[in-house]
Amino acid sequence: MTTSSFPTIKKDLDAMKVKPNLDYDKVRGNFDWQEMYDELDWLPGGGLNKAHEAIDRHANGRNRDKLAMIWEGKNGEKETYTFGEMKVHTDKFANVIKSLGIETGDRVFIYMERLPELYFAFFGALKAGAVVGPLFSAFGPDPVRDRLQDSGAKVLVTQPDLRRKITGIIPELFELQHIIVVNKNNRDPQPINTADLSYEEEMAKAPASFDIVNTSQYDYSIMHYTSGTTGKPKGAVHRHQAVVQQYATGKWALDLHEDDIYWCTADPGWVTGTSYGMLAPWTNGVTQLIYEGGFRASKWYELIQEYKITVWYTAPTAIRMLMRAGDEVPRRYDMSSLRFMASVGEPLNPEAVVWGNEIFDMPFHDNWWQTETGAIMCANYACQDVKPGSMGRPLPGVELGIVDENFDPVPVGKDGILVVRPGWPSMFHGYWGNAPMYNSRFRKGWYITGDSARIDEDGFYWFVGRTDDVINTAGHLVGPFEVESALIEHPAVAEAGVIGKPDPIAMEVVKAFVSLKDGYEESTELRQELMRFSRSKLSAAVAPREIEFVASLPKTRSGKIMRRLLKARELGLPEGDTSGLEEE
Ligand code: AMP
Repeated sequence: MTTSSFPTIKKDLDAMKVKPNLDYDKVRGNFDWQEMYDELDWLPGGGLNKAHEAIDRHANGRNRDKLAMIWEGKNGEKETYTFGEMKVHTDKFANVIKSLGIETGDRVFIYMERLPELYFAFFGALKAGAVVGPLFSAFGPDPVRDRLQDSGAKVLVTQPDLRRKITGIIPELFELQHIIVVNKNNRDPQPINTADLSYEEEMAKAPASFDIVNTSQYDYSIMHYTSGTTGKPKGAVHRHQAVVQQYATGKWALDLHEDDIYWCTADPGWVTGTSYGMLAPWTNGVTQLIYEGGFRASKWYELIQEYKITVWYTAPTAIRMLMRAGDEVPRRYDMSSLRFMASVGEPLNPEAVVWGNEIFDMPFHDNWWQTETGAIMCANYACQDVKPGSMGRPLPGVELGIVDENFDPVPVGKDGILVVRPGWPSMFHGYWGNAPMYNSRFRKGWYITGDSARIDEDGFYWFVGRTDDVINTAGHLVGPFEVESALIEHPAVAEAGVIGKPDPIAMEVVKAFVSLKDGYEESTELRQELMRFSRSKLSAAVAPREIEFVASLPKTRSGKIMRRLLKARELGLPEGDTSGLEEE
């Protein structure tokens, strides 16, 4: 059985200048995670800390003067940092927050653009034993408030313009004790709020060395908020232990070698930007580019050319936008440094894999994982042929399954629920303060991913869809409830129902159906006003791209909005079982 009409892309291992790290068939058979734990350095006191594995082990060894970070700012500024320099900056930041009274397990959140200081604060907080939560810088005040309140963050590290954006929510953050403002290169001329701390002043006072808190592998390290079908986003918490899988997948799924120059295009506000924009490359001692700016096809190719990127990890929406920009654009640049390309976050259509092969002479290697899994779980590996459209095979040491509603395995080639056997090292260890929701993700010895998939006769996995209402827009998961909640705060809105509408580039865009309160008339102006309103509260990435006025929304007898029905109507599909529909 083949699941795609595109031919398999064959690899010639003998012709590869750099031999893949992983021999899949050899390793997968009898792999024990202990082998990978043994490759970590561990703390002198016997504990484990992600910051030690990513920064200090290199700074204390032969990689001390090797470049860890090449940074290019959005205005063209350039800076570089060796592992040794990264150690000094992160040690200083650990001292700064220790002096503010931060203890092991306290939450420190970072709401910044991709500045070097984001990375210093991130690892400095880990060194101090804190649990770090990075927030997407494009978020508006509502998502920031919800996450800071839910996590009980004590410290927020931010930058002047973002600090101003959220001024209105600060009085609602009862547990927040300090705001540290980074004014990179004095970019912002306005003085900071006198109640805030200046990052630059605090760092200037801080000692340049710090003994990492002896965290255990089981201590919490990072939290990322992720969307579900109901309620507000939940904080998925990971332990220091996750680093072993982030290290192993950097080596195996991204095929990182010591002399690579690596670029991950994801923002640390999302899990890919921390697991693969920080931990995987640096635990592997690899130099990486951090680019502060956004997407522009010619700029991205220019970066690959200028920095001689060898390994590139990006996302399907970006690849589709590159395809749309045209084949002549990459041909204007020297792309010959590239040797491995990977993609994650949404289904990667086979056309994109084949396009990569034509333009760059190598396919994009799709891999699958999610916030809760903490690291790559299923991948197309450097050592294997690529079936365009497939997300590859399970990582050594990871057991995936495809099951039916009773959690019985489904036959090869049939769609089912994608599940994972618990116990992989980077498994999340809870949703912050929400044990019932965490427990609901496990049944009959499986972790339920929320995705459906199928497996072919060669053991390759093929993504089918989500099993819930969560929307995947440009690789960002959006919980419909969060958008509905923002919309109904507008005085004109009675009810809102939100779905993902298929889109050729972003896979899905957020579409809202809105019914109005008595006394309000539908109009183009009101539609635009609602778009603006939700964008200012949420962010352009999360807010609806389309709003349709309806007289009423279909609801179950218990009053829940039937998004499934809204979607079926939108797509002109059969409405399915509507027996639970409320009579109007
Ligand atoms: P997040 O937790 O935000 O990283 O999103 C994880 C979700 O994104 C998964 O559960 C999938 O629905 C989707 N996803 C991630 N990687 C892939 C992939 N390679 N193919 C298809 N869907 C993916």
